[in-house]
Amino acid sequence: MKIYRIRAHHGMCLAFFQGNGYSEEFTEHMGKIKQELEKNPRVRLADGTDDICAHCPHCVYGACRSTEKVAAYDRKVLALCGLEAGAELKWKVFEGLVKKKILDQGKRKAVCGDCQWDSLC
Ligand code: SF4
Ligand code: SF4
Repeated sequence: MKIYRIRAHHGMCLAFFQGNGYSEEFTEHMGKIKQELEKNPRVRLADGTDDICAHCPHCVYGACRSTEKVAAYDRKVLALCGLEAGAELKWKVFEGLVKKKILDQGKRKAVCGDCQWDSLC
């Protein structure tokens, strides 16, 4: 089974995803990834752009236009979950850690409160 590359803060975005996003292509693709992850594949916590970014209009020449901002989100998620970039684990283990260590603790805003989608998450 394919190992998905998922950047850490996308563990939160996927938890809130309800079909909104930067473009039609992007949201359709993100929906597909969310469905695939339901099958609980292994994921590698990407240090940089991932399988979701691949269809984002803000991904230019393989890098995010907001790279500093999102890299900071990734670092905070990794630290709160006790993980490191490059770690490989089952999706549901990562999803569970994000829920338990961040979302259930009300820490989401402290990670990404300045994101443009903040009011939707
Ligand atoms: S506010 Fe932005 S970064 Fe945070 S979970 Fe929502 S979409 Fe993701
Ligand atoms: S905004 Fe950046 S981190 Fe978010 S999906 Fe697009 S390229 Fe990836």
